[in-house]
Amino acid sequence: MIISGKDLSAKLKAEMAERVATFPEKYGRVPNLVVILVGDNPASQSYVRGKEKAAELVGFKHSTICTPATISEAELLDIIKGLNEDPEVDGILVQLPLPKHISESKVIETIAKEKDVDGFHPANVASLWQGLPCILPCTPKGIIKMLKEAGVEIKGKRAVVIGRSNIVGLPVAKLLLNENATVTVCHSKTVDLPSITRQADILVVAIGRAKFVTADMVSEGTVVIDVGVNRDEQTGKLVGDVDFEAIEPKASVITPVPGGVGPMTICCLMENTIECFLGRMQ
Ligand code: NAP
Repeated sequence: MIISGKDLSAKLKAEMAERVATFPEKYGRVPNLVVILVGDNPASQSYVRGKEKAAELVGFKHSTICTPATISEAELLDIIKGLNEDPEVDGILVQLPLPKHISESKVIETIAKEKDVDGFHPANVASLWQGLPCILPCTPKGIIKMLKEAGVEIKGKRAVVIGRSNIVGLPVAKLLLNENATVTVCHSKTVDLPSITRQADILVVAIGRAKFVTADMVSEGTVVIDVGVNRDEQTGKLVGDVDFEAIEPKASVITPVPGGVGPMTICCLMENTIECFLGRMQ
């Protein structure tokens, strides 16, 4: 079974659009998402276009502030502070990665936590690990939604996550733990990775290396979630971290790249913007 994040996100966005259409009457306006794009990295530009398209579809007010890559850290922080204070702005997202002279952690910390639609602010991360209400990071949230939509029972299962970044690996592990899976987190120093991945009922891969996970690393019936986004060196096409063709016959459920986790990430960004809007309205 291939879980289409594209189809699920289309369904969820249509439901959100219906909800958002009722907001002007209830709250006097619709949610407002502001994205900041620093520089002209083509991948970042493409991600931002995807976010703009989704915001348009669900009926948000939205805008993108484009700045040159040479903008100083202080100038960027001032833009964010201005948006924090703007009562008409509900969600602020700074597209990562940033040029080297700008500290990503300073930028993330400067975004008001109640407008942090990415869920990266340290206060949101701390709340996630403490089990307190918070804005969940979009990619991990989207993965759990996909598993549930596919009818995958998470409770009691052995979940293996490859990757321990703050954006994907660690929060995915925590959300799986919240669903009562038994979770193992692997990384670049893990010894004999295949012996661990073969134990997985649910395998989440977030490394950033094309076709890193091969068929011999996966047991029959495993649920495989591929977060990776890479360019195939030969074809130039987008590919995941998993060798999809080789693993699809063995997996009970698998996500494709493109069309899997990526669209769900954007969908959850829209959901988080609505949560931030409602949090501020109420
Ligand atoms: P990251 O910060 O670079 O983290 C990569 C992780 O992979 C690290 O924890 C690293 O281990 C681990 N790793 C690297 N080589 C390994 C190996 N040989 N064996 C085992 N583990 C290894 O990347 P990220 O931000 O988490 O992103 C991961 C991938 O997901 C990228 O392709 C990114 O583009 C993609 N992504 C997709 C979405 C989406 O919406 N689809 C969203 C976010 C990210 P160490 O900690 O030991 O270095």
